[in-house]
Amino acid sequence: MESSSAATVSAGPGPGPAPVELLRRLRARGAADPVTHVERVPARAGVPAPWPSWAPTELRAAFARRGVVAPWQHQAEAATLAYEGQHVVVATGTASGKSLAYQLPALATLLADPRATALYLAPTKALAADQLRAVAALELEGVRPACYDGDTPRTEREWIRRHSRFVLTNPDMLHHGILPGHAQWSGFLRRLAYVVIDECHTYRGVFGSHVAHVLRRLRRQCARFGATPVFVLASATSGDPATAAGRLTGLPVTAVTEDASPRGGVTFALWEPPLLPPDSSSSSPVPPQATGDGSSPPAPSQATGDHDELRQVRRSALRETADLLADTVAEGVRTLAFVRSRKGAEVVAANARRALDDAVPGLGDRVAAYRGGYLREERRELERALLHGDLLGLASTNALELGVDLVGLDAVLICGYPGTRASLWQQAGRAGRSGQEALAVLVARDDPLDTYLVHHPEAIFGAPVEATVLDPANPYVLAPQLACAAVEAPLTPADLALFGEGAKEAVDELVAAGALRQRPTGWYWRHRERPEVDLRGEGGAPVAVVESSTGRLLGTVDGGSSHFLLHSGAVYLHQGVSYVVDQLDLADGCALVHAEEPDWSTHARDVTDLSVVSVRSYVDAGPVGMFLGEVDVTSQVVSYQRRRIATGEVIDTRPLDLPTRELRTVAVWFTLSPQSLALAGVQPADVPGALHAAEHAAIGLLPLMATCDRWDIGGLSTALHPDTEAPTVFVYDGHPGGAGFAERAYGTAAAWLRATRDAIAECGCETGCPSCVQSPKCGNGNNPLSKPDAIRVLDVVLSNLPA
Ligand SMILES: [Zn+2]
Ligand SMILES: [Zn+2]
Repeated sequence: MESSSAATVSAGPGPGPAPVELLRRLRARGAADPVTHVERVPARAGVPAPWPSWAPTELRAAFARRGVVAPWQHQAEAATLAYEGQHVVVATGTASGKSLAYQLPALATLLADPRATALYLAPTKALAADQLRAVAALELEGVRPACYDGDTPRTEREWIRRHSRFVLTNPDMLHHGILPGHAQWSGFLRRLAYVVIDECHTYRGVFGSHVAHVLRRLRRQCARFGATPVFVLASATSGDPATAAGRLTGLPVTAVTEDASPRGGVTFALWEPPLLPPDSSSSSPVPPQATGDGSSPPAPSQATGDHDELRQVRRSALRETADLLADTVAEGVRTLAFVRSRKGAEVVAANARRALDDAVPGLGDRVAAYRGGYLREERRELERALLHGDLLGLASTNALELGVDLVGLDAVLICGYPGTRASLWQQAGRAGRSGQEALAVLVARDDPLDTYLVHHPEAIFGAPVEATVLDPANPYVLAPQLACAAVEAPLTPADLALFGEGAKEAVDELVAAGALRQRPTGWYWRHRERPEVDLRGEGGAPVAVVESSTGRLLGTVDGGSSHFLLHSGAVYLHQGVSYVVDQLDLADGCALVHAEEPDWSTHARDVTDLSVVSVRSYVDAGPVGMFLGEVDVTSQVVSYQRRRIATGEVIDTRPLDLPTRELRTVAVWFTLSPQSLALAGVQPADVPGALHAAEHAAIGLLPLMATCDRWDIGGLSTALHPDTEAPTVFVYDGHPGGAGFAERAYGTAAAWLRATRDAIAECGCETGCPSCVQSPKCGNGNNPLSKPDAIRVLDVVLSNLPA
């Protein structure tokens, strides 16, 4: 949701050069031109639409008092679809006014029918509170909007249940509070006309799969009371939002994606740092039987140093961004640089300050780092200084992305692709003052996805590429959700269709386990207590992070992630503050840490074994087979590397002694016949390196197809797998039961592997680098890898696979 906020400040006049001239000066610095593409994103005038005829005068007047004189075209279109009873998702850019698209039909209905109710769901309490303010400010008679979440005082809850007609809550409260207490909510649910799901793209992966079933439970309770609410969803720009929204709700959903809101013009450059001269360092070859690349959780400390023990690397994106920041500041251009980690932001600011002070002593003072750890007042002060020109350059993590509306900058530098197009546009959207052109630069990190994107601008500026994925059929989600549903009301055969694929099997297993009992009227929950189901849990008991000196509990980490994030010696970031782990005590489920900010990051490595449990679906393509199925993954975190944050240089690798872990999940894999590989010119001795290199790049490019990052997925490749009896590359979801990523990869296999092939082939390196086939999290030290043979492998797959 977005609202015009009083905190939005526009920058004053700046003396800097125009964006096109600025870019010309920046790219003229080095020997080679680092710019791979310049996109002119034209200013867009908004397309207003008349108020829909069904919108009551009272409501139009209320919006007009809040400064909304007319809706934009997309708002009117989505609102009318919803008002006419169609489930609709509006998936448009930041600040395009998505909230009006659901407020309009919901509030019009509430005004027309004094008994009707609406339920609004946000992923966070803060967003629900914002939205409450916006709805309350309309001052509509008899709507009585109210937040109902964990912070709502007990004394107010009954009043809200009885009298509020616009209840704002979150999926966790719906799951833990409202649905189990449906008897108390029967009056509200019986009259429920609209369910609004804001920021629905955040319901992805395992969490999204849980929320999908919470919504099915809601629909079931409504149906029992005779209500069939219309669902209105708001999403960031994403690929195929109708399908994602349909999976989330279990309903047919129409998408509105044509953004008709106005925006300023931006010159957007894609920037690839140059390759550095070859280095003589080498790694010791240990040819493994199978090379695995375990999935590991996204660690902020891992975001900066993507270099490995390499032969050839590119200049680091951090250094490049620091230089660009210094240059734009020297030109008098107000610039914001987005850097993924806090430490990285500090490195960028420090390097830019140094460069500026070398040129003009004192000029460095006009650059600062924006840290998450600052107090709100300190942050405001920095923002004000930037907007008034006292500061000219700010290096920030994406803390700003969700914070105050700091807009109107002359230039935005984005150090590394932020993961999704939506985030990219959110960051780039900080550039541009009213009526003036601005510059945005995406600086590629040394990573296959970044490299692919700067060479394939159509993947950024063309149709949206990434889709929000979730997998409601995940048995690890479905079974506990069916148990929750059975507590709320006995399950009937008709309910099984509602909960979808796999529901019958899950019910049978719950019966066999003694959790459900079958009676003529349905399946009944057998226990006194309700099942404990955490929507955001990943299975496994969480590990507590405790500060040794004070005994203070800093937070918890998923059991599954703890080996990667909290091993002894790990650098662990918590709310922007850096800690080092003294000891991980798995028996007690806690990690003891102390505050320390070393100038290195840590990167855990694991070894992986994998066996096929079952095949869900496959494509037989002659010498090539493409499969989707369940697998068992056994992995063990065996060591970690320490790397300098500023340069990515590896300091050392230290062994770890941690137990193995088991994961049953979903994988996509392809096999090739040895004959087809030989025909393509891959020597038998090069097959392991060819497959391993293809696997790395395929993992790196999967985020192009689905909103995951490479830390959500793992892989394994081998010249002969006992279960497939062929050379095989596996890519699996790093979450128990799968999260939809492998399934999405299987569904888009040809496009995914085509992008993978192109990313490798187009990389300018000779033998492989982190921009193509090397992986920052390889369990085998990026060995063996054969870049030319990986292209041959993928050519064999692509020439046989149906498009
Ligand atoms: Zn390369
Ligand atoms: Zn590897």
